[in-house]
Amino acid sequence: MINLTTTLNGNVICPICHGENPPDEMFCGNEGCHKALGEFRYVEEEFQGQRKPLERIADKVSSFTSHPHFVTVHIVWFAIWIALNSGFMAYAANFDRYPFGLLGLLLGIEATFITGFLLISQNRQARYSEMRAALDYEVNVRSYRKLAELISIVEHLNERVASLDRDRT
Ligand SMILES: [Zn+2]
Repeated sequence: MINLTTTLNGNVICPICHGENPPDEMFCGNEGCHKALGEFRYVEEEFQGQRKPLERIADKVSSFTSHPHFVTVHIVWFAIWIALNSGFMAYAANFDRYPFGLLGLLLGIEATFITGFLLISQNRQARYSEMRAALDYEVNVRSYRKLAELISIVEHLNERVASLDRDRT
């Protein structure tokens, strides 16, 4: 949990970007930040802070494989490979003749690594969703408690007012 720091004039300082916000602001006014200002856990920062080097690579790989460039790179790669090895071009290397066994092997290795990285990345995403859900639950429980507290105060006040009215009559 993060306690909010305030300036002398009551402005709230964002714990993430350290920008100053008016006291009644709910979210950080900084465009790139926009974090909720309150005593909340900052799940995304916490989550990114726990990231191990292999998970960092997995995230990069999964973001690249889901990008259209991934397909373009492979089309170009296959076109060059086939052109070099099918004897159309004179002086070409011809290092992997039809049916391109070396290309198949390389693609098999690539598929194995990509599958592994995608699974790592997916697990991380699932963990992140769980952390978000836990935060939602925590906020709900805290809201519920505060509400119950307020209801009991209102009930108590109501009783006091009623007893004062009774005494007066
Ligand atoms: Zn901020």
